Amino acid sequence: MIDAVCTYGGQRHTFSILKFQALPETEIEKSRQFLQCPECEGKAYYRKRSSDGKAACFGSRYHVAGCDEGHPSTQRDRETRHSVEVNKVISDADIISIDFMLSNSKKSVTEVQTVTATSSLISSSLPKIDNASRKHAGSNEQAKVKVLGLEKILNSLMRGSDLAESSTLIELDTGYKFKAKNLFVNFAEAEPSANAKEAKPKMYWGTISHLDKELDWLNPSDCTDVGIPISKYKSIILERFNVSEGRQLEGAGIILFGKCFWNSKKTRKIIELWNADRIFISVLED
Ligand SMILES: [Zn+2]
Repeated sequence: MIDAVCTYGGQRHTFSILKFQALPETEIEKSRQFLQCPECEGKAYYRKRSSDGKAACFGSRYHVAGCDEGHPSTQRDRETRHSVEVNKVISDADIISIDFMLSNSKKSVTEVQTVTATSSLISSSLPKIDNASRKHAGSNEQAKVKVLGLEKILNSLMRGSDLAESSTLIELDTGYKFKAKNLFVNFAEAEPSANAKEAKPKMYWGTISHLDKELDWLNPSDCTDVGIPISKYKSIILERFNVSEGRQLEGAGIILFGKCFWNSKKTRKIIELWNADRIFISVLED
């Protein structure tokens, strides 16, 4: 994207990247969470010049299919594939179990694992029949469980899969199930509780606009009233996703399990991470 539309202040201004990067830093900070793709209006990001000389640029993780600004890339192809795959999992499975470690390992995460949820007691008392017929076996009904990692879930949400609206049950920990549509929340739709104690954790997702200088806070592109403090887990997270400077996270996709609540002045929504494992960041690969 050579240009981006900025909607700051309720007006629409088209900026070329040269014009935008020449703005005073305070103007850039004010405007960067109000950027859109000029063609499809997908939420866009601004990446500043890198310390090793990569040029500043605009981009979007949300181009609609067919938008001319959304240049094909292996990353985009993979996201689209994951979206198709997750839609298939939704239609096939009764329960989707999230494996938080699946996307953390350095190994290939392309395999969807299928497991069968059953107690040994039930399975030993049942005749050997396949899962499809067992599903309709009345009181002995057995749920078909598919396991997904955070990477596929995030990619599919960014590419507009059915997951965000689905009633499919998502199992986070043994026995803790939520309907997908109640669990996955884009940052723009985050509803804060009065305080951290009252907040129920959910899976929040979206894209990162920018960080503060100390890399202690992630600021989403999707909205301007949410802040995600990461200082507690900063070194683990930056190392896992191979990030050495804030610019690398500008435009990154992110999903995390955490609690949303108001700051003490009720001016900003805080999303607090559950732990260092329940987060996945899709760093831009180009
Ligand atoms: Zn676009």
